[in-house]
Amino acid sequence: MVSAAGVHKRFGALHVLRGVDLEVARGEVVAVLGASGSGKSTLLRCLNHLETVDRGTIRIAGETLVADDGQGGVRYPAEAEVRRVCRHTGMVFQHFNLFPHLTVLQNLIEAPVTVKKMPRADAVALAESLLGKVGLADKRDVYPNRLSGGQKQRVAIARALAMQPEVLLFDEPTSALDPELTGEVLRTMRELAAEHMTMLVVTHEMAFAREVAHRVVFMDGGLIVEDRPAREFFASPRHERARAFLEHML
Ligand code: ATP
Ligand code: MG
Repeated sequence: MVSAAGVHKRFGALHVLRGVDLEVARGEVVAVLGASGSGKSTLLRCLNHLETVDRGTIRIAGETLVADDGQGGVRYPAEAEVRRVCRHTGMVFQHFNLFPHLTVLQNLIEAPVTVKKMPRADAVALAESLLGKVGLADKRDVYPNRLSGGQKQRVAIARALAMQPEVLLFDEPTSALDPELTGEVLRTMRELAAEHMTMLVVTHEMAFAREVAHRVVFMDGGLIVEDRPAREFFASPRHERARAFLEHML
């Protein structure tokens, strides 16, 4: 469902991704772990075309987002094609990124109506069903500033789902939340995993990674240095930096 091969990303002199290879199968939940600055967010942002890559190939749902040109560079398809491929992925950010001037319902129908040209009535019906799913049907007409952090993040998840993506990318979805609010967001994510949503989750929630993720990829210095079933990873991390990371986190 997600396939990245030899992905490199530089910010000026800073070589942030140094040849990332990653395959995520349909229905798989993959936790992305690693120290601060190891390139986790950059990798997610490259998969969702919030950043361009300098080298490598990325395919999403079997379609090419970017192809290595074999000459040290890359070839992106035409812009409309890139946008189309990007619609296979949805992203959930640490800081929710809801539109503050739109109600919860309007937040959910905005992209389906304007980007996907979904009939408004269909978008509203879908949005209402997704709000029910994340337990926020009663918040339909309120503005984001009236919501708790956990509620905002559940709206953000519902908004991502409203575009009916094949893959959801989460970048530390609970890191901005008070501890008592992380549970409700993780519960929503567990439910999605149980429904076989393909998910790539950058997280510091080790219990979630251990119990929900099928696989762990551990990043260090812009490379995936360990990629194993979650159970094995937590039982006996191989890479020295992974061991140190886990000792620090647990
Ligand atoms: P954290 O756990 O702190 O979120 P991360 O693993 O997500 O870290 P990234 O955000 O991917 O790390 O950043 C990797 C490196 O790239 C860091 O050194 C960061 O400062 C740098 N970086 C990220 N985005 C940019 C940017 N837009 N311009 C310049 N440097 C950047
Ligand atoms: Mg990050």
